[in-house]
Amino acid sequence: MDLFDSHSTEHANLPRNMIENSMFEEEPDVVDLAKDSTAFPTFPALDPDEVAYEPRSSRLLVRGLGENDMDEDEEDCESSARLLGMSFMNRSSAHRSSSSPYTRQAPPRSCSRPSARTMVVCVLFLVIVASMTMVLYFLPGCTFTKAGCRKPNKTTPVEPIYPISTNGELFPWAQLRLPYSIHPISYDLTLNPNLDDMTFTGQTVINMTVLHNTKRIVLHGANLNITKATFKLGDGEVKDVTVLEYKPRQQLAVKFSEELKAGQYCVLTLDYSATLSHTYDGFYNSSYTDKDGNRRVLAATQFEPLYARKAFPCFDEPSFKATFLIKISRKQDYMTLSNMPKAKSTLLPNGLVQDEFERTSVKMSTYLVAFIVSNFTPISKNVSNTLVSVYSVPEKKEHTDYALDTASKLLEFYNSFFEIEYPLKKLDLVAIPDFLAGAMENWGLITFRETTLLVGKESSPLEKQVVASVIAHELAHQWFGNLVTMSWWNDLWLNEGFATYMQYMSLQTVLPQLDTGNLFLSVRFRAMDKDALNSSHSVSTEVNTPEQVEEMFDSVSYEKGASILLMLNTSLPGDQQFRKGIIEYLKEFSGANTDTDDLWNSLTKVEVSTHHQNVSEMMNSWTSQKGFPLVTVSRNGDEVNLTQEHFLLTSENATHASSLWNIPVTYVNDSCSLAPECRQVFNLKTKSGTLKVPKSVKWLKLNYRNTGFYIVHYGNEGWAALIDALSKNVSVLTHEDRASLIHNIFALSRFGRVSFQQVLNVLEYMPSETESAPVTEALLQLNRIYRLLDKRQESGLVARMRSYILMHFGSLMKSQTWGEEKSVSKQELRSSLLGMACSMKEENCTQQAKSLFKQYVDSNETFRIPGDLQHVVFSVAAQSDKDWTTLHSMYERVAYDAEKRKILQALASTEDTRRLVWVLKAGLEGDIIQTQDLPLIISTVCNGFAGYLFAWDFIQENWDRLIEKFPVGSFAIQTIIKSATSQFSTQAHLNQVQAFFSSLKERGSQMRSVQEALETIRLNQRWMDENLPTLRKRL
Ligand SMILES: [Zn+2]
Repeated sequence: MDLFDSHSTEHANLPRNMIENSMFEEEPDVVDLAKDSTAFPTFPALDPDEVAYEPRSSRLLVRGLGENDMDEDEEDCESSARLLGMSFMNRSSAHRSSSSPYTRQAPPRSCSRPSARTMVVCVLFLVIVASMTMVLYFLPGCTFTKAGCRKPNKTTPVEPIYPISTNGELFPWAQLRLPYSIHPISYDLTLNPNLDDMTFTGQTVINMTVLHNTKRIVLHGANLNITKATFKLGDGEVKDVTVLEYKPRQQLAVKFSEELKAGQYCVLTLDYSATLSHTYDGFYNSSYTDKDGNRRVLAATQFEPLYARKAFPCFDEPSFKATFLIKISRKQDYMTLSNMPKAKSTLLPNGLVQDEFERTSVKMSTYLVAFIVSNFTPISKNVSNTLVSVYSVPEKKEHTDYALDTASKLLEFYNSFFEIEYPLKKLDLVAIPDFLAGAMENWGLITFRETTLLVGKESSPLEKQVVASVIAHELAHQWFGNLVTMSWWNDLWLNEGFATYMQYMSLQTVLPQLDTGNLFLSVRFRAMDKDALNSSHSVSTEVNTPEQVEEMFDSVSYEKGASILLMLNTSLPGDQQFRKGIIEYLKEFSGANTDTDDLWNSLTKVEVSTHHQNVSEMMNSWTSQKGFPLVTVSRNGDEVNLTQEHFLLTSENATHASSLWNIPVTYVNDSCSLAPECRQVFNLKTKSGTLKVPKSVKWLKLNYRNTGFYIVHYGNEGWAALIDALSKNVSVLTHEDRASLIHNIFALSRFGRVSFQQVLNVLEYMPSETESAPVTEALLQLNRIYRLLDKRQESGLVARMRSYILMHFGSLMKSQTWGEEKSVSKQELRSSLLGMACSMKEENCTQQAKSLFKQYVDSNETFRIPGDLQHVVFSVAAQSDKDWTTLHSMYERVAYDAEKRKILQALASTEDTRRLVWVLKAGLEGDIIQTQDLPLIISTVCNGFAGYLFAWDFIQENWDRLIEKFPVGSFAIQTIIKSATSQFSTQAHLNQVQAFFSSLKERGSQMRSVQEALETIRLNQRWMDENLPTLRKRL
């Protein structure tokens, strides 16, 4: 899956019911607690795969019962009483007597040893027990019939506590993850969507094999109304069976009185009905307005990570791979697509057509299944043995050529790079009008946002760069992810880190003119910024709950994953070694599931060089611990001492004490600093190490071209020498190295290791800098400070910062052209310079922008504003009343999605607060502005002074609706939280943010991004306290 960009978002939504259910999970079924585990003999002893995992809620209760330091009887009675008391208070307050049903000071101690003194309390208590038993008995899913004061046996291991199914029976499985006793082999899916009433019916036939003796089949299903279920064992008879459902975990189960035996085959057939999802996940409905103004409906799927279960009952975990045969019915004027080519179409008696697709020729995980019912039209081309097609709504067909051409080139590249042919006969790339993620790599049927697939013939190279990058990412997934899949979401980086790395690597070869190098460099910087926080996580990390799975789709899995692969590739001797290793890995695990160690082992195996290096040993230090190192350099004559420490921005509650990384430190010096041959390597595995350099060496630059995932501090002398060298000749270092120095010095300032004066010293050379990477990095960092000062209403300092930026970048800003520009890096440079200049209302910039906008409007929109400048031009226009209105009407009219998004950003950048409120509301409503763009709107509004507090209020007021649209933990929610809070820097705001998120409880308080937000505000606050005096003195 591609997350699109930091302003946008990805993928699927947690359904409303799941959020409610996760709240419900906190409130356990009372019978779980009360049940005597021996009283349920029909349940099998633990499956071999049933490890002693306790669901969170039951663990709390077990602790409540067994881990207090009270007398056992007392605590037992108390716990039961507490439960009863709570239930009593919650549900029967009208019956509450004046004596409290339960207080800690006067526990009904005599539960097992009644005494006269407590008799009255006990009698009262028993009355409550009796009445509550009756009340609870009639509550759905709640049968409080086996309660009693029992002594828990502390020495017995905890038995699984089975929950209650919707029909009141005990559900035979108590874990989030499915048992491994049954494995699916193949699915036959029949789907009958009705796009008039937005419902569908389906039949799922699952052929399975029994791996361990078991009395149950447990699988996933969410919001499916099962209407009929049959089961057949081996060659036996088909029998009706009852399907149990436990909604909080979206699980279905069938229980058997006799064991299914290992080695047997069986078939489960489930008929069901459901509603097409109204969010962006599962089998969801979408619509668009065609060129004649008619609303056209369609249905598409988004199953990653946990939503195949909303479309059909299945074993919805990545390691349960199987084959799929899919049949879908449709009206005659519609068409359908699925992973495989269509095998045949049959006219049904009801006038509909049923399309049947070939059975998948490969085994695949459920999250990769996809189907679409729409009226899209394709263009196609044969590439090797694969028919590549790009589909769009009919009126956008002319925007599909670039995607077809790019996908074809990339498919050929990957076929030969991986030495494994893409295994399917067709590959469809489909632009979906309503799509939350950037794109999704469904095998053979990749789905995209329109922005990430469609480009006009005249689109700018930067727009093409977006499209090519996303296609390269999704195509890489056809091997990394689809052919070889991570066993579980804890290793999501094996999919996403790899696809992200391959996207940059392949484009540098296939479309070098797109110049993706700078983009990759800047995403590595951003990944470090996030990973420097205590709230970060290791690349490979434990995940269990749906929210934790969602949270894995973040910059650590994607960008840090890609960064450490780059570091590994560049540190292996011999440029083919990395490639050989991954070919070995793909061949060995083709069709299977893997974890991180499998990858490192494959790469270690191909190691044939003389400097033998154990890849596992090195890479484990990068994947198993969060964060990254700071390497500090100190030099004494010919000896250079390097020390490493965890670059952790906040030390509160830190758990980093003994972090050590195996760092392939690279370095160049003044005698040879540009060519790859200049690069030398020193492996720093311990806390410190010493390398020798000739005494004549004037300066060292570590982390050559910033291919390593670490930050370097050169000490005062080291920095001074580098600054001196740059002041004499900018080209003494590569542009990546210059950008790396700028990124590092700002990071060190944030870390508190250098003063802001030192940052300003490094930036002194900027007036002679003309390359995109260092300029954009410097502007991004200065802009962050500028915005913080602005939000603090430090107007004097804001003005001085503005002058500082204009003094250092003004001449470069002025020298930018406003016409068409072919070079990507020049486009990057000017959009960043002009974006900054115009946002600071630099006269020359705003005048130029206004004049371009006027030409555009006067020409009836036939005059073309270069694509990379549209954002700047529209944003300046949006500051005037009249032009905002013009843009507003343009937004409704323009069909091309990339342009539409730029207009939307402009609309959201106005300083008119009433309009800002309108944009925010419209984004939430989803009629005029698609809700998929709400994270982009929020992040734009938060950038400006006028709207950032409104946006924060808006988020608080609409939190429940937001998590209805975007799942808790998802990238969309991560983006929203980050945008809304990252510019706060005061105690008052810290308190507000803390209070709001802690009030959410299970509606989001546990998210990592909340921790990240709080940490960021504290850091901003600290940085301001420490640096405001310097800024006042030096700016
Ligand atoms: Zn991806």
